[in-house]
Formats: sequence, C-alpha cells, structure tokens
Amino acid sequence: KSAVHKICAGQVILDLPSAVKELVENSLDAGATSIEVALKEYGQEWFQVIDNGCGILPCNFKVLALKHHTSKLADFHDLQSLATFGFRGEALSSLCMLGNLTVETRTKSELVGTQLTYDHSGVLMEEKKIARQIGTTVTVKKLFSTFPVRSKEFSRNIRREYGKLVSLLNAYAIISKGVRLVCTNTTGKNLKSVVLKTQGTGSLKDNIITVFGLSTFNCLESVTLCIANSCQVDGYVSKAGSGSGRYMGDRQYFFVNGRPIDMPKVGKLVNELYKGANSRQYPIAILNFTIPTMAYDVNVTPDKRKIFFSDEGSILSSLRETLEKIYIPSHI
Ligand code: ADP
Ligand code: MG
Repeated sequence: KSAVHKICAGQVILDLPSAVKELVENSLDAGATSIEVALKEYGQEWFQVIDNGCGILPCNFKVLALKHHTSKLADFHDLQSLATFGFRGEALSSLCMLGNLTVETRTKSELVGTQLTYDHSGVLMEEKKIARQIGTTVTVKKLFSTFPVRSKEFSRNIRREYGKLVSLLNAYAIISKGVRLVCTNTTGKNLKSVVLKTQGTGSLKDNIITVFGLSTFNCLESVTLCIANSCQVDGYVSKAGSGSGRYMGDRQYFFVNGRPIDMPKVGKLVNELYKGANSRQYPIAILNFTIPTMAYDVNVTPDKRKIFFSDEGSILSSLRETLEKIYIPSHI
C-alpha cells in the first residue's frame, strides 16, 4: 500500500515548482490576499509558503496530511468547486511522503496558532501552541530526501528547478488580482534576496509592467477575442516587428480562468505566426482563456498544468485568425 502511495506522490509532486504550486494554490483556495514563498538554498534545504488565508480548523489537524483528505470535496458536484484549485487531497499527503512537513496555522476563531508536525505517512506527530496571525504557513524541509535517487537528481538540477519555479511565480504575479505575492531566497549564512515582489493591487497591465518592465510592455499589443460557447481570450502579445525588450525569462504565459496552464499548442501557434512576420526572436504572449468550467477538464494530468478543451479546434482557429491580423500585414 505504501509503495503505491509513494508512486502517486511522485506523480503529483514532480519537482520543486509543482510542490510550491500546490501550496500556492492552497493559499489561493484559502482566500489569501498575501502569499510569501520563502526558499532556503533555492528550495533545496527547505521552502515555505506563508499566507493570510482562512487558516485550518483544529478538527482537521489530525487528518490534514492523510491521503484524500480534503475540505474541498464536499462541494465537488457543485460547479463552483471546480473553480478552486485543488480538490483531491493529495498535495499535503504527497509532500509528507517526499520530505518533512510542518504546518503552522490559525483561524479567526482561535486566539493562538498551532504548529503541527507530520511524519512521512501523514500522521500527526506533534502539536504545540505558537503565536501567529490568522493564516497558514506550510514548510517542507529536504524535499525528495526519502528518495535517494530523486534527491541526487534534485541537487544536480536545483538551479533549473529554481528557474522554473520563478517563472511559475511570475505567472501568478501576472494573473493574480488582489493578491500580494513575494518570493525570497536565502543562501549561505543569512543572505536573503527578494526574487519577486508584487503588490497585487493593479490590473493585468500593471502586473505585466511589474514582471517584465515598462519598455517590454510598450512592445506589446492587446488581444481580445470571443469564441462561440462563451469562451473569451484576453491578453497581450508582442507587436509585429517589435523585439521583446530586454526581458530574459520565460516569455509566454497561458492561463485558463486565471490558473497558469501549459498550452504547447497555443505557444507553437504564436511562435509560428510571429516568426512569419519578423526575426528569430520568440514573441511574448500572455493569454488568459475564460471558459465555462464544464467546457474543460483541468485534472487531466496529476500536476494540473495540462487541460483538455472540449472545443480545442475552434479555439485554436479563432486565435489563429486574430493573430494573423496582427502578424501578417496582408490580412489587414
Ligand atoms: P486539496 O487542496 O486537494 O484539498 P491538499 O492536500 O492540498 O488537498 O490540502 C488538504 C487540505 O488542507 C485542504 O483541503 C485544506 O482544507 C487544508 N489546507 C491546506 N493548505 C491550506 C492553507 N494554506 N490554508 C487553509 N487550509 C489549507
Ligand atoms: Mg491542494
């Protein structure tokens, strides 16, 4: 039984970014308006997600990290529930399996906070009172230490996984409205650097300027299109003939209903058309697809970054038409 659980854990949490993503999504589900991701040695020693969300009720302390425990399953059949990020109760149990999990939390009904320590099978080992504000802090130490081979691979790839994580956090920074997002990394004895910081008070445009810079934003053109079945796409792409400014990180961010999603086909389409219009540089593309929740299935892959559209063909062809108008001059 335990072996099966371990295999499943490895599927939800593939790497550092997918681990942090689960925690950030839990914070968003908890209604947090401030989320801080703190890393020690790029996440290799430990990582922590600190939020000011609703906190965890004492009645959930014991079961919190057990497989399939979720407080979100109750309204599973309600469409609204599909709008929350997780509903399968796998993240915390998987993280227990893969490293050392502690949770600090307090709801508005408690006067003090509680620190909870779990063992690798998700059993609550220690519970003690602490002082803290309303919200939750989840800390994972030594991710993958329970898998020696994976652990070695993790150390070897740490800079790459860290890079992927920063770009994932950029994605949240771009799309999240009303959420303050901070990421810090502490290296050596006590050298703490701020990797990312957004106030989360502005529009998509403001967020893009924060992440990419104003000169890059000025090279972008806004895109809006409506597709049948009440699907809408909004965002920005590089203007035809423009460069992409000096921004060096990931250039393409796709979202479905505000959630970062890998959309290789969309990326390919933008690259293909842009290339037709000018240089070898990749265009920036930031596109949010607003789609009724019944028109797609987000839990298709365990890490929830790939999805199925029931009407992918028409979405892609409408997008192609819009982009052709931007990138292929004869289309104007
Ligand atoms: P899921 O998100 O699919 O429910 P998780 O394993 O990610 O499963 O989390 C288990 C449960 O722990 C959640 O349903 C929620 O009740 C609680 N939880 C986890 N993180 C937080 C958080 N940051 N704030 C409040 N509750 C949380
Ligand atoms: Mg979750």
